Amino acid sequence: MLEPMISDLHTHTTASDGKLSPAELLGAAADAGVSVLAITDHDTVAGLLELHEPARGQCSVIAGIELSTTWKKTGIHILGLNIDPGNATLAAGIRRQQTAREQRAEIIAARLAKLGLVDTLAGAAAIANDTAQLARPHFAQYLVESGQVGSLQLAYRKYLGPGKAGDVRDFWPPMPEVIDWIAAAGGVAVLAHPGKYRLSKLKLAELVQDFRAAGGRGLEVISGQQEPALTAQLGALANRHGLYASCGSDFHGPGQIWAQLGKVAALPPEALPVWEAWAR
Ligand code: MN
Ligand code: MN
Ligand code: MN
Repeated sequence: MLEPMISDLHTHTTASDGKLSPAELLGAAADAGVSVLAITDHDTVAGLLELHEPARGQCSVIAGIELSTTWKKTGIHILGLNIDPGNATLAAGIRRQQTAREQRAEIIAARLAKLGLVDTLAGAAAIANDTAQLARPHFAQYLVESGQVGSLQLAYRKYLGPGKAGDVRDFWPPMPEVIDWIAAAGGVAVLAHPGKYRLSKLKLAELVQDFRAAGGRGLEVISGQQEPALTAQLGALANRHGLYASCGSDFHGPGQIWAQLGKVAALPPEALPVWEAWAR
């Protein structure tokens, strides 16, 4: 009997906040029966560049990226799938993201300092071990490890969570800009995990419309383990706006049951799978 083909088009490696190296991820994906794997690290293609020649017999790799952007003060993630990781326009965009991330980290640290928390920038940077990837989880971990906060949960509730001092928003480039970088790199721009922004249905439809108008081409109809009702809603939304449907686990590492490698439900039958965009 022919096994169904598993495509997991949203995964992270140690190049961003994932736990597995690109080579380890590839091995784990093959073990999980994944035939097509997209590596989509946050604002970097370093993991892809590290993977020179995947060993034979392993799954085929789609070059991807997950770019941070802002839409109407909401942080939105856009996947670029089947990109040319060496594209110069994309590379310039990535450098811009790295600068933005570093500046944002400095602002977070300054705000935390005002609240009496010390050495957070250096501490978080040491944990991140690459300042281009510095983000709130590193600050949270440092606050706990340095004994300044009792637990990770408390770190978010008091300092880093929504509306708190360390929640620095509105820092990423506008959505059309990152969609342009993806297009320049020959990729397909896909709106990542539309169910995770806590937008009303009306607001989500507005986002999708703006995304489409800016040149976006796909919607992540399946993101990890999700309710079938959401899948149906997003599938209908994709069709209504003439968008390709994508599917991915958003795998960051073993042990997260809501985002297991290759655990990706089938797309709704009426969906136009995103791989058709590069198959033709
Ligand atoms: Mn992540
Ligand atoms: Mn994301
Ligand atoms: Mn992700």
